[in-house]
Amino acid sequence: MPERLVVIGADAAGMSAASQARRMRGAHDLEIVAFERSTWVSYSACGTPYFVGGYVPRVEDLIARTPAEFAEREIDVRIRHEVTAIDTAARRVTVRDLERGRDLTLD
Ligand SMILES: Cc1cc2nc3c(=O)[nH]c(=O)nc-3n(C[C@H](O)[C@H](O)[C@H](O)COP(=O)(O)OP(=O)(O)OC[C@H]3O[C@@H](n4cnc5c(N)ncnc54)[C@H](O)[C@@H]3O)c2cc1C
Repeated sequence: MPERLVVIGADAAGMSAASQARRMRGAHDLEIVAFERSTWVSYSACGTPYFVGGYVPRVEDLIARTPAEFAEREIDVRIRHEVTAIDTAARRVTVRDLERGRDLTLD
């Protein structure tokens, strides 16, 4: 069974880390799961003024990569999932599925 890397927050830092980990280790060796509480991943916050100013027509144009694109790299991105607890001793996170209103744990 491969090791698992859990990434909390799937914007610039989180998905850079996830992508780098995938470059270093294949899916047979490392499972990568990224939890993001919002509906957006890998988006350009820096581009927000360009959207507000009308230089970028659609807000979707600020998204660098979608969960589906990360899935092609065998990175499992779960939006609308909020990590609510981290137990470092047990190496476990508790995650709230905001859509279904239920909790899950991941070791
Ligand atoms: C208007 C604007 C202009 C900017 N311009 C520049 C620029 O010119 N140059 C530059 O270098 N930087 C710029 N920045 C800053 C840059 O966008 C940020 O540094 C960058 O977005 C930080 O990325 P991050 O992944 O570290 O954090 P964030 O973007 O804050 O991402 C953290 C993510 O984690 C998620 N999250 C947090 N807690 C949890 C949890 N418990 N469970 C699940 N998900 C969670 C959040 O929803 C969020 O998506 C700008 C920012 C803004 C707003």
